[in-house]
Amino acid sequence: MNKIILTGGAGFIGSHLAKLLIKKNFQVHTIDCLTYAANYNSIKNLEPSDNFSFSKVNICDYDKIENIFFEFQPDAVFHLAAESHVDNSILNPGLFIQTNIIGTYNLLRASMKYCDKHNYYENFKFLHVSTDEVYGSLSNNEPIFTEDCKYKPNSPYSASKASSDHLVRAWQKTYGLPVLITNCSNNYGSFQHPEKFIPLIISNALKFEKIPIYGDGLQIRDWLHVSDHVQALYKVLLEGKIGEVYNIGSWNEIKNIDLAKKICKKMDELLPINDLNIKNYSELLHFVEDRKGHDERYAIDSSKIFNQLKWKAKVNFDEGLSSTITWYMNNLDWCNFFKRS
Ligand code: NAD
Repeated sequence: MNKIILTGGAGFIGSHLAKLLIKKNFQVHTIDCLTYAANYNSIKNLEPSDNFSFSKVNICDYDKIENIFFEFQPDAVFHLAAESHVDNSILNPGLFIQTNIIGTYNLLRASMKYCDKHNYYENFKFLHVSTDEVYGSLSNNEPIFTEDCKYKPNSPYSASKASSDHLVRAWQKTYGLPVLITNCSNNYGSFQHPEKFIPLIISNALKFEKIPIYGDGLQIRDWLHVSDHVQALYKVLLEGKIGEVYNIGSWNEIKNIDLAKKICKKMDELLPINDLNIKNYSELLHFVEDRKGHDERYAIDSSKIFNQLKWKAKVNFDEGLSSTITWYMNNLDWCNFFKRS
């Protein structure tokens, strides 16, 4: 396996995966239409590599996608391109239906046509990157999500991802396309859009602006460092069993409000406040009306990927958070790109 198509490579997780694949000497063709959520600067430093190429193409444009498959002739696809922000999915669900469902269908269709023409089924792999949000919400005492849990998506985002997971599964069962599916918990790390929870806290704190916390802030998420996620994806592609689903998480549950306070405390140490109006960053925390249909708790059981593929998260949460905060402090230009675009 040498040639990989990566969709969504100018986004948060895709940019980290692109860097890992180039480092591992794969030829990577990235497809991304550069929505508001993308920042090409995240991968610009890969341009000098002969192994890196890029197409600004929308995955909803089937003809262009098919052309890329036939010209590049991939051995594998990592499919990450998606509309990914739950709040936006509540305001504009149609876009999520288009990109996350129709876009995924187009990639499956192009993969089939390409494999048919080259009789390539034995060598090809399609890895679909999805989320734990497809399993819905857990109460505090319910057991954590395994691969056998029922799908119960609650937001237009998670429903569109759930639909795409079903399509990918069906294309394997019906047509024999060699697919793999991963469902991962919340990621954090560098290069994540400032609209997402952790970067929003950091970037608002850096500007001394109020930090919004939905509802009572007691929602629980299971946080995984993005570098651990891309290592898991790499392992699943190389060693995962075709047709299988792998949950990816780090047994690292924390309440939103506790996480926000933790980040503020770290910022008090890393960048002490000299302003007389506030003494520490946690004074900026500000409860706002809860998100509609806000899921209470997500938590992932990663036993399967650990037992079968020997993958487990390595990044210590405290260290990962500190390095993420430092990265945002040192990369304000990268964040300001989103204001200008
Ligand atoms: P992101 O929003 O940062 O990046 C998505 C990328 O996809 C962007 O570069 C965007 O331009 C591109 N894109 C969107 N619509 C497109 C279209 N129609 N055609 C071509 N490109 C398009 O998202 P992310 O956080 O990097 O997530 C990547 C994938 O991982 C998504 O599929 C998401 O559902 C999944 N996921 C994310 C998390 C997380 O915590 N961020 C957790 C689990 C799974």
